[in-house]
Amino acid sequence: MSRRCEYCGKKTEIGYQITRRGLAKAKGGVGRKVTGRTKRKFHPNLQQVRAVVDGTVRRVNICTRCIKSGKLKKPLRRDRFVVSASPAKSSAEAS
Ligand SMILES: [Zn+2]
Repeated sequence: MSRRCEYCGKKTEIGYQITRRGLAKAKGGVGRKVTGRTKRKFHPNLQQVRAVVDGTVRRVNICTRCIKSGKLKKPLRRDRFVVSASPAKSSAEAS
């Protein structure tokens, strides 16, 4: 399973963690010096959520920005301990 959003395709990016020393010029020092660069990864904030895809409910990997922007269609929440008299009624509410 790759770390990739199934909606926008966002995936892991590679960058650097930059180590600095010294006091900033604004604070009266002689400036900040870079003493090291280490490779690091930036992972997207992926969540496994249940979603309606092509009419069926399945679990998808989706980033939180796509969840917030409403690209995801969440499955219908059914109340527990409720016996429905007509099973065809629940599918009509799913629109
Ligand atoms: Zn996304």
